[in-house]
Amino acid sequence: MKLDYDVIIVGAGLVGLTAALTCAHKRLRAALLDAREIDSRPDKRASALTIGSYNLLGHLGLHSKLEGRLQPMNKMHIADAHIGKISPLALEFMDTKSDGPTGYMVENEQLRGALLTAARDSAAIDIVAPIHIQNIARTASHVTVSLDNQDLNAPLLIAADGRNSSLRELAKINCLTKNYNQKAIVTSFAHERPHNGVAYQYFYAGGPLALLPLTGNRMSIVWSDGASAIDAAMALPETDFVCELQRRMNQLLGDIVLCGPRQSFPLSLQIAQRYTDHRLALIGDAAHAIHPLAGQGLNLGLRDIAALIELLHAAKGRGLDLGTAPLQDYEAWRINDAKLLSATTDILNQLFSNDIAPLRHARRIGLSMVNNLSRSKSVLMKQAAGTAGHTPKLLTT
Ligand SMILES: Cc1cc2nc3c(=O)[nH]c(=O)nc-3n(C[C@H](O)[C@H](O)[C@H](O)COP(=O)(O)OP(=O)(O)OC[C@H]3O[C@@H](n4cnc5c(N)ncnc54)[C@H](O)[C@@H]3O)c2cc1C
Repeated sequence: MKLDYDVIIVGAGLVGLTAALTCAHKRLRAALLDAREIDSRPDKRASALTIGSYNLLGHLGLHSKLEGRLQPMNKMHIADAHIGKISPLALEFMDTKSDGPTGYMVENEQLRGALLTAARDSAAIDIVAPIHIQNIARTASHVTVSLDNQDLNAPLLIAADGRNSSLRELAKINCLTKNYNQKAIVTSFAHERPHNGVAYQYFYAGGPLALLPLTGNRMSIVWSDGASAIDAAMALPETDFVCELQRRMNQLLGDIVLCGPRQSFPLSLQIAQRYTDHRLALIGDAAHAIHPLAGQGLNLGLRDIAALIELLHAAKGRGLDLGTAPLQDYEAWRINDAKLLSATTDILNQLFSNDIAPLRHARRIGLSMVNNLSRSKSVLMKQAAGTAGHTPKLLTT
């Protein structure tokens, strides 16, 4: 039987879109399905991209499409804080080896726009949205996805349908779930003093406040706190919200003006126990959704893509079945990275999101100790950059 596609990807979020483009880059044909309208999705988040993720976007030809939108991050400054006082004992990360940035910031709406335009321009990608999946049949030889008026066939189904993945549920893959009872506000602001490409993370008792540099002398914020504190901050009039934010950042950047609306997100940890099933691979938040404090959720998803599509490309070159041969290797390659990062972000959140005096003291000393140990810092940086261990080629230059 001649199949329509090499892969059918369900979910056209940032991960599904990038997966489709990576398939096209490796000459694999992809159908990209989404339950929702594909355009005009307000997303006020900005993503911190590691150098590996930045390299992947480069291979997909997106650097030029995002020109003027990618803000280099030159340094990360991490400190313990409570209102009115930010600890001087801080941990600082910068890439002293290459003298280049540690990563790049990009606004999600800009990134999505660039990905969508590229996907629409690609002859190897069919975008079908909004759709309702009537049935999924995974047979011995292929997968058939039945929509209202057509059937699509491929050897492999890729679930990029987010943290509440219905494909994961269909395959009865269990998920370890932890509700943080925290939410995060995201928005951006313009400021008086230059940010010089420095990202700040202040750990308050309720949760971290991240200030992330954007192009045009603007900062994106991710302000995490207990769910009721965030609901209250969302309801504040704009001037009061700005005052509250300034108190938390100690007027670091002079006067500030909000650039857009606030959006809030509930925070939880979810990690799938398996990343594969019969003719099915999970990627992105469908496989792992983690606390945003390390800015790693999307990066993990992009690393899934680079690994999976490298394996699919190699299997196709050898004439192997794409729906079976690469799956075991994919899971073995990817699952530990996500487990390690989800555990790290979970422990950091527990360790920092409290106001217990001995812990506060210990973490301040801990931060400055790690800051002085260049080896520990370099291990942490490699893990966060996605260049620790066996790195997929698409993440390198
Ligand atoms: C506040 C916050 C800040 C963050 N900051 C960063 C950061 O700085 N760096 C970073 O790397 N990560 C960050 N993340 C994480 C990152 O945003 C997510 O990991 C990423 O957006 C997940 O993308 P996704 O495509 O896997 O899932 P989603 O964006 O959830 O997309 C899933 C898609 O699947 C579709 N879908 C769902 N169900 C179905 C179905 N049944 N049929 C068809 N389609 C379906 C949906 O419509 C959607 O389009 C942050 C997260 C939060 C909450």
